[in-house]
Amino acid sequence: MVAASRLVAQPAPAARLDWSADDTSRIAWLEQHGRTIVTRYAVVVAPTDSVSAAWQQALADSLDRGLAAVRRLIGAPMPWQRIAERPVKFYLSPDRFVSHASGHDAVFISLWRARDGMAPFLHEATHELLAAAPPFAPWEYPDSAAEARAAARWPLWLTEGIPDYVAQTVAAESGWHEGDIFAIGGLAKVDSVCAARVVTNGRRAEIIRAVGAAGRVEALFTTDRASVAPAFYACAQSMAKYLVETIGLTQAIALFPAIKTNRVDEEVRRAAGVPLAELRRRWLARLRLSDV
Ligand SMILES: [Zn+2]
Repeated sequence: MVAASRLVAQPAPAARLDWSADDTSRIAWLEQHGRTIVTRYAVVVAPTDSVSAAWQQALADSLDRGLAAVRRLIGAPMPWQRIAERPVKFYLSPDRFVSHASGHDAVFISLWRARDGMAPFLHEATHELLAAAPPFAPWEYPDSAAEARAAARWPLWLTEGIPDYVAQTVAAESGWHEGDIFAIGGLAKVDSVCAARVVTNGRRAEIIRAVGAAGRVEALFTTDRASVAPAFYACAQSMAKYLVETIGLTQAIALFPAIKTNRVDEEVRRAAGVPLAELRRRWLARLRLSDV
């Protein structure tokens, strides 16, 4: 038995978030209550009772142009791409959740974020465009040992930072409005935003350790997400920008299929002439951040 006062003083333990658990029911609900608009590169599914056909058509047309620009920028089609020439399907669901990609050509975005201009449409769509043929994500491996190995080598900074880099580049060039959930402010500001957020973050060691290296920040996937995500996403985007400046976007994109074969370090060394760890050290120095 623990005194009630002690219970009150204890912070709630972090619980695991699973933002895709309801995706099947989101699709089922939208099939009943939604309208589907199809363009060459984007399919938008949204509830008829809360979205006008004109608004939805305008969004679909903008996304079509945005995704054509993303495809040009990344050099698609590429033989290893899972999505091939298929469009990305955007499910705008009325409930509130963390926007996410699925690996099934589909992304899920809260309708209220889309209406507020806060939806990371191109970031999520780029996840679909950069997914290699399965198994790619750790959970796509058939047994738990293979899944654990894939998770340990998974470079989350790269798989989140490059979609941010791509979305921000297309937004700057085309006038597309990409939602900026973590208020980073674009590629010109990302280095200073990362540095400022990391030095004041109580979990800076966890965050810095995962940028430019294999693995992920576990707190991103729990109810502690809000305490690490603004700094992690800024720094992942900053490191991705540094990588692209060093080896070029084509070589950076070519790292995605190399995740499957555990050849990311080898490919970086071949393209940059130095190991990824050295690039990471140079990036930290540029931002005047100390290593952990
Ligand atoms: Zn993402």
